[in-house]
Amino acid sequence: MSDDCIFCSIISGDIPGRVVAETDDALAFLDANPLAPGHALVVPKAHTERLADLGADESRAVFDLVHDLVPDVEAAVDADGLNVGINDGEAAGQEVPHVHVHLVPRFESDGGSPIHAVAG
Ligand code: C5P
Repeated sequence: MSDDCIFCSIISGDIPGRVVAETDDALAFLDANPLAPGHALVVPKAHTERLADLGADESRAVFDLVHDLVPDVEAAVDADGLNVGINDGEAAGQEVPHVHVHLVPRFESDGGSPIHAVAG
């Protein structure tokens, strides 16, 4: 737990989060500024800034929950696919320094643009 981490505050319940799933070591909640309906974030409960700093157990907990949630999130908003991604490090656009996996529902109607384009 880090006192000045917004996601740690959601995990501890100090700040309300719209939690969609929880395990012993990971939490999933809806993104406050969703890129699409159902946009969810999966985080380790232990404060960890970068992906490479996650321990094996925490990593497994996060990605197991991602794996479990993909079909549930897709079904919940009747999506046709999902972008699953991590902004790892400030240079990669990470704004909240607590590891989080984005689950962004995608729809046939939204054009199918990929997210791999890097602004140059
Ligand atoms: O990957 P990145 O760090 O840029 O994403 C942070 C995400 O955390 C954003 O999608 C933002 O909307 C979300 N967020 C949130 N609740 C907050 C602060 C940020 O869901 N209180």
